[in-house]
Amino acid sequence: MVGHQVSTAEFSGKRVTVAGLGVSGVSAARALAGLGASVTVVDGGDSEALRERAASLQAAGIAVRLGDADTLPEGTDLVVTSPGWRPDSPLFAAAAEAGVDVVGDVEIAWRLRGPDAAPWLAVTGTNGKTTTVQMLASILRAAGLRTAAVGNIGTPIIDVVLGDEPHDVLAVELSSYQLHWAPSLRAHSAAVLNLAPDHLDWHGSMRAYAADKGRIYEGNTIACVYNVEDPRTERLVEQADVEEGCRAIGFTLGAPGPSMLGVVEGLLVDRAFVENRHQQAQELAEVSDVHPPAPHNIANALAAAALARAFGVDARAVRDGLRAFRPDAHRIAHVADVDGVAYVDDSKATNTHAAQASLAAYESIVWIAGGLAKGATFDDLVASAAKRLRGAVLIGADRALIREALARHAPDVPVVDLDRTDTGAMAEAVREAARLAGPGDTVLMAPACASMDMFTNYNERGEAFAEAVRALTAGRGTDA
Ligand code: ADP
Repeated sequence: MVGHQVSTAEFSGKRVTVAGLGVSGVSAARALAGLGASVTVVDGGDSEALRERAASLQAAGIAVRLGDADTLPEGTDLVVTSPGWRPDSPLFAAAAEAGVDVVGDVEIAWRLRGPDAAPWLAVTGTNGKTTTVQMLASILRAAGLRTAAVGNIGTPIIDVVLGDEPHDVLAVELSSYQLHWAPSLRAHSAAVLNLAPDHLDWHGSMRAYAADKGRIYEGNTIACVYNVEDPRTERLVEQADVEEGCRAIGFTLGAPGPSMLGVVEGLLVDRAFVENRHQQAQELAEVSDVHPPAPHNIANALAAAALARAFGVDARAVRDGLRAFRPDAHRIAHVADVDGVAYVDDSKATNTHAAQASLAAYESIVWIAGGLAKGATFDDLVASAAKRLRGAVLIGADRALIREALARHAPDVPVVDLDRTDTGAMAEAVREAARLAGPGDTVLMAPACASMDMFTNYNERGEAFAEAVRALTAGRGTDA
């Protein structure tokens, strides 16, 4: 039983097809079956692991069809898709032909909310989403509000909405995929952090990707938060259909104009949620309250602060929440100092936009990069960082692309090209980086690429880096 009201009537007795037997698919299937829907899960795979998962769902009265993800089960009233499924999947074409709606887990969660449900403060962007919602949740908690960071992170959002735990407000991370499949979502306030080409193979074009991101602003009631330094985000606000009185609020690393949050003399300040924004600014926190205080992370903090302020949170809670926040592993994590060189793990920098942000945060860098490029080009990234590079060590399948960009834009930077992808490769990369680095330098592993050519995921890549650094420290230097 849930302790608060939810709107379940819509799903009772419906025949729902869930596309994909992953985490969100299983959560959606169980939740909808629990609400009285007749559920079939379809998945194109047919592995041992999937069969085991299928068996546990079948025990709960849920039908599962493995090995065929293309045909729409007879009589389907609604398709619930997992976020990763491409919009041009044959199953969705079949649904369109049959006049059946296709929605995602976020849409289901939204429709399940009862009249007293917690409002959503929503965050999207190409990079920084997880960090920002976690900062936001930390600020909301510091204000004494009952909250959780959910969405593309943590407990599946349907489970949170149906769960027993009461919330005053939710900090919701939304990917472009989730937004694509959530047409009726109406957040209290929302932020788009930045917009750089990513996942274009899925969305089809930059315009379609931006349009899906922009959906987060639809129907906002208090604030649409945009990045002053990224005009594409402001354009999305202009195009959105919002509630009367909803305001556009900018965040900037410079001095804020009226209706903006920004930075003045080492302070995060608010010129949006104050009585007289033309003459007044409210100090929120010091830049040093943000961890780590890298420029892109200050931007994340300002976006989180803007959403919290839109919800009425006071300045002190913004400061306390930011102070209490620590980023997840592998996001610009300082591993150790060895012989005056700092070793930093930003394994989560899996695309060029993210790597650009972390390269901008250090003055003198030996860069460990490479992996799967996913169709990216590296010229802009290398050109913007060239001045600060002391050396580069390249790993992984697509390292030649980065090597060529270095040759074009940073020809004087020494490059070590590691022609091995076995598990010992990272240890050698770190030793080579140590050889290139001098006191005051930072060895930064911000690969700008996905990890799957050499590692299971970015976590494993980060662990391998940290382990290799610890091997260096054996006998010398000090652990951080
Ligand atoms: P997401 O959830 O969007 O993937 P994360 O908060 O997990 O974002 O951060 C992913 C990576 O993106 C980090 O390792 C960091 O290098 C980079 N990053 C974080 N915030 C920003 C930002 N505002 N702009 C650019 N890059 C960022």
